[in-house]
Amino acid sequence: MKNKNTDSSRRKFLKQSSLAGVGAVLTMGMTPSLLAGDLNNAARPAILGGPSAWDKAKWIKWPIWVPETDEKRVLEVLRSGVWSRAGVVNEFEAAWANVNGAKRCLVVNNGTNALIVALNQLDIKGGDEVLVPPYTFISTVQAILMNGAMPVFVDIDPETYQIDPAKIEAKITPRTKAILPVHILGMPADMPRIMEIAKKHNLFVVEDACQAPLTEVNNQKVGTIGNAGCFSFQNSKNIPIGEGGAILSNDVSFMDRCVSFQNLGLPYGTAVGTFNAGSVRIGTKVRITEYQAAIGLAQLQRLDAQTTVREENAKYLKSKIKDIPGIVPYKLYDCATRVSFHLFSFRYKKEDFQGLSRNSFLQALRAEGVPCSGGYTPLNKQEFLKEAFASKNFKRMYHKDMLDYDKYMERNQCPENDLLCTEMVWFTQNLLLGSREDMDSIANAISKIQASAESVKKSLEK
Ligand SMILES: *Cc1c(COP(=O)(O)O)cnc(C)c1O
Repeated sequence: MKNKNTDSSRRKFLKQSSLAGVGAVLTMGMTPSLLAGDLNNAARPAILGGPSAWDKAKWIKWPIWVPETDEKRVLEVLRSGVWSRAGVVNEFEAAWANVNGAKRCLVVNNGTNALIVALNQLDIKGGDEVLVPPYTFISTVQAILMNGAMPVFVDIDPETYQIDPAKIEAKITPRTKAILPVHILGMPADMPRIMEIAKKHNLFVVEDACQAPLTEVNNQKVGTIGNAGCFSFQNSKNIPIGEGGAILSNDVSFMDRCVSFQNLGLPYGTAVGTFNAGSVRIGTKVRITEYQAAIGLAQLQRLDAQTTVREENAKYLKSKIKDIPGIVPYKLYDCATRVSFHLFSFRYKKEDFQGLSRNSFLQALRAEGVPCSGGYTPLNKQEFLKEAFASKNFKRMYHKDMLDYDKYMERNQCPENDLLCTEMVWFTQNLLLGSREDMDSIANAISKIQASAESVKKSLEK
């Protein structure tokens, strides 16, 4: 966790890129095209008419599907006519539990519902508070609201982007029932410290591991450390099956209740009724289908090898860009022993790029053939919270002081997250499945833009 962006490495970078750097220090009064014309052609950013660093058609497409090995099982399911939940789903569940070293797995129709079901069967309901980081996908927070509970935002650790354990205890009240850490971008949250706090205050821990299949903390898979762990198999995720999700847990009776709840409250395992007939609880229906499970089994075959490639490429790319001024890559906690890298991330510091805005930087990077985005906007400031607080259910479940939106906003400020959302740059996981040459092209593209930042700014931000 040491910042290696030292002065000497900066100097080294500047020396190495001195040729390209000429463009950035040329005198005022020249037009951007003239400036660009003075660069050797290969060093000129694509956005200023130079050659692109990479051909964007070369990136590995997602999802991956191999007809020869993958289609047999799916066709068998289709031709069998058994499409509702049955044996293939059971097999997929057993496989995912086994890979993770968890006692039980329940697969449902998406990750959002995995979170909703898990919170619901831990009895997290109206009047309860759940601690959650603001740097996450919207589902994490919606899952809390859908159970009538109140999300309480805990700001992030600025270096790892995860929920900051040092800020958790200050947010605990007598109403707090659970911590919902998110292993965001596939990098693990600081689970040892989170578990310690949860134990001390008698709180449940539900891990949102939707972006983090096979990520490990001290050699233990995330999603198996808290009371429950939730995964997503949505098409952009590392296990793509269109839509799908899973809950892992070692608590058998909790899992039996989850199975029952996701199937209209019908009895299952230890979750039986007194009359031994009909539904035993309030339930919903979020079951997955057999053909989805057949796709999932095919995807699981590749997951381990793909995860290794992503992790190696992420390390390599990080080493290639960490000394470029203005590029501050992600950091990992020391307890991270494996990382799924659903996204590769770094902070973009425009002050080190002659003030070139992040949007212009992203535009210039895309012109180099490198797909990229700026990631999330602050969740704790979005409209949906206001709407939830104005709803009939929330008004009946909470004292009106708690539903005062302005006061809530005040209590839930997350300045570290606000800043992160303005600086973040993401590459999606499929880029990390490429070759070393692919990674070099990304580093090269960023270096080109850095060296000509002033000309790029003049051209894009007139
Ligand atoms: C994708 C995702 C979810 C929701 O999963 P879906 O399958 O899309 O419903 C929840 N949390 C995080 C962090 C995610 O990335």
